[in-house]
Amino acid sequence: MMDRAKALDAADPLAAFRESFILPEGVIYLDGNSLGALPKATTAAMTRVVEKEWGEGLIRSWNDADWFAMGTRVGAKIAPLIGAKPHEVIACDTVSVNLFKLISAALAMRPGRKVILSEPGNFPTDIYMIEGLERQGLATQRLAPRDQIMDALDDDVALLMLTHAHYKTGELFDMAAMTKAAHDAGALVLWDLSHSTGALPVDLNGVHADFATGCGYKYLNGGPGAPAFAYVADRHHADFAQPLTGWFGHARPFAFSDEYEAAPGIEQLQCGTAPILGLTALEVGVDLIAEIGVDRLYSKSRALSEFFLECIVERGLDLDLVSPSESTARGSQLSFRHDNAYALCQALIARGVIGDFRDPDILRLGFAPAYLRFEDMAEAAKHLAEVIQTEEWQRDEFSQRAAVT
Ligand SMILES: *Cc1c(COP(=O)(O)O)cnc(C)c1O
Repeated sequence: MMDRAKALDAADPLAAFRESFILPEGVIYLDGNSLGALPKATTAAMTRVVEKEWGEGLIRSWNDADWFAMGTRVGAKIAPLIGAKPHEVIACDTVSVNLFKLISAALAMRPGRKVILSEPGNFPTDIYMIEGLERQGLATQRLAPRDQIMDALDDDVALLMLTHAHYKTGELFDMAAMTKAAHDAGALVLWDLSHSTGALPVDLNGVHADFATGCGYKYLNGGPGAPAFAYVADRHHADFAQPLTGWFGHARPFAFSDEYEAAPGIEQLQCGTAPILGLTALEVGVDLIAEIGVDRLYSKSRALSEFFLECIVERGLDLDLVSPSESTARGSQLSFRHDNAYALCQALIARGVIGDFRDPDILRLGFAPAYLRFEDMAEAAKHLAEVIQTEEWQRDEFSQRAAVT
């Protein structure tokens, strides 16, 4: 398989982009879906902003370096990656906080309806944010398994809130069909694009999505705790009102008025002062992903995971794949169920193959297409086979649980 891997790498139009990232020697990084790798350009950009714009420009940089518009500038660069218009996206806050703002705004736009519909097993923060609104008496949570969501859409539902690519299994929703069904039931739709943005094509405008949010530190390579982004379709800008009415969402923050007046556009999504350092790193990652292009990333991502599956079959492994077997039905990852998934994952990490474990029994391997090689697939499959076939995972040290898994 290694010969074939090398031939595939030689023919890979994205091969050169690996050089745009720092990847430690001896590591095969299959966790770019949890924390993307560091682009080489990030360090220089951060140094410039810290030393010049902050160190020398000081407060003047809010104007001179255009810090003030940074959230909208980075948002506008994310927009084409998700099929949105530049003025519909802003980089701000975390996905969790954006969910709160968008769910609250959706509730206010559907008076008389309180149900937020999602699926059980959605990413925890998505469900927790509904719960928080429920505690305040503002929302009612309804969770329906994915094959029953259509039936659960009735005229109590204010908002259908789903994650496009499931974090554990990678399973995709048909965004067009789900959005249409929700609209037919009079509900609005909010998509969590955390596991899609920068890896799969998304067409928010094409499916008429109302709202979306997604993560900056996964496939966008914005760094740990990078700002997230939020999307509001421009047809809603006039009647959209989010509840975190901080001064950065004001129409004129520097009028220092006692009355809150929401900014007319996507800027309203901001709450407090924009995190300029975080946005600086995020912008580098977004520029790089935009340069490579989502369509090319998506075809490579599918090719990588298909090749990995071939490699494990070749090694005689018969693993329980919980991701869809059809590459077009899943995100850029493969997840396997194994009774000892935690120890298996630790044993792989000890060999430099970094994937992750998702409770209770999932080994999740992410295939960030911007920097992985087919060679890495063959190599990772070899390690996985050895760890299982020699039962190396049974060693005591591999069953000690750390705080972050
Ligand atoms: C990673 C992820 C998040 C992260 O939320 P933060 O508040 O930015 O930490 C949210 N939703 C999904 C589906 C994710 O995968």
